[in-house]
Amino acid sequence: MLLEARGIVKSFGAFRAVDGADLAVAEGDIIGLIGPNGAGKSTFFNVLAGDTAATAGTITFDGRDITRATPEEHAQLGIARSFQVPVTFEDMSVAENVLVGAFLRHPGRAAAEAATAEVLEFTGLAPLADGRARSLGTPGRKRLEIARALATEPRLLLLDEALAGLTPVEVRAAIELVRRVHARGITLVIVEHIMEVILTLAHRAVVFHQGRVIADGTPRAVVADPAVVSAYLGRSMSRRAAPR
Ligand code: ADP
Ligand code: MG
Repeated sequence: MLLEARGIVKSFGAFRAVDGADLAVAEGDIIGLIGPNGAGKSTFFNVLAGDTAATAGTITFDGRDITRATPEEHAQLGIARSFQVPVTFEDMSVAENVLVGAFLRHPGRAAAEAATAEVLEFTGLAPLADGRARSLGTPGRKRLEIARALATEPRLLLLDEALAGLTPVEVRAAIELVRRVHARGITLVIVEHIMEVILTLAHRAVVFHQGRVIADGTPRAVVADPAVVSAYLGRSMSRRAAPR
């Protein structure tokens, strides 16, 4: 397994936002992580990316114990993530935001700039490269989150609602981008609310509910699972919001 998380708990006081979650990710996987709001998905990503320490549990990456590794060590090992709420340097240009990521593998300015140019081209941000990040709309921001993460040249990329807030046309373009990211050889775990995206992209779907994994299987099997339907009761699991 590329990544193996076992028995992950993340407590905030007496509240367990993640309550004993397991996840195994094989190299080359695209895993869709779904679940109602507040299920603990983002908190789980925070733990996997080393942004916050797990209260309990163990995580290995490529056979190495990373449970207590720093965010920098995670990045160095090849784990990158996008944030649900973009963490953009608003007054820097789009290119400079990506350059920050590129310095991880390319300490020299020229090489970092070349790597940045490639990522900007790849993500379709090249025409916006010199504009301030603050001038970007939602699709640009979502792309910049992905570009910043890609610039660190990850083996595993965790995307947290990278398609949220996009129009159906923009969602289709973003799905295409995610496919091309995967074709680069990058393993993906994506948190996504639009079921059609999960059904289209994911090899496997993992369902979170109240900090635990309540289903893990093929996307089609998982959406038909009574426990999953019940966790979503009163919420839209339909394909209404789907891109067509
Ligand atoms: P999801 O991403 O699945 O919507 P989150 O991981 O963001 O869920 O949140 C899971 C639960 O943990 C929520 O009830 C949220 O309010 C709580 N939570 C998240 N971060 C914190 C924090 N820093 N302190 C206290 N509670 C938190
Ligand atoms: Mg979230």
